[in-house]
Amino acid sequence: MSFEKFGIVNHTKESKAADFVTYLEQGKVMATRCKKCETMYFPPQVDCPKCLSNAMEWSQVKGRGKLLTYGVVNYGPLGFEDKAPYTLAVAEFEKGIKVFATLSKDIKEDEIAVGMVLEVVPARLPDDRFSYELQRAG
Ligand SMILES: [Zn+2]
Repeated sequence: MSFEKFGIVNHTKESKAADFVTYLEQGKVMATRCKKCETMYFPPQVDCPKCLSNAMEWSQVKGRGKLLTYGVVNYGPLGFEDKAPYTLAVAEFEKGIKVFATLSKDIKEDEIAVGMVLEVVPARLPDDRFSYELQRAG
């Protein structure tokens, strides 16, 4: 599968990380791990910027993360006009993986609290497209 099914607005049709979208379709949000220096990358990198190795493997981002910071977007850019207001958030997961994503609209603004426990899940968008979001951990 190519990368063009990723996200609401996508300027990249092909990517060496295209399997990321295949995994989303299978219900998994994946990072990559460098087999040489063991650095984890999210979003996935297929070449390690740290040690320049291309020996990478996929590793699922699972478990519980903690909300580090967030911001409410009241004016959506191109493709997101009808989504606003929405919340962008950063959560930290095991092995120090930081995920930057939209926060599920199931969490009301007055319920958002730094330190709250979240999980990252695939999100199915209209037209058979995929992304991922942060939601309250179940
Ligand atoms: Zn490396």
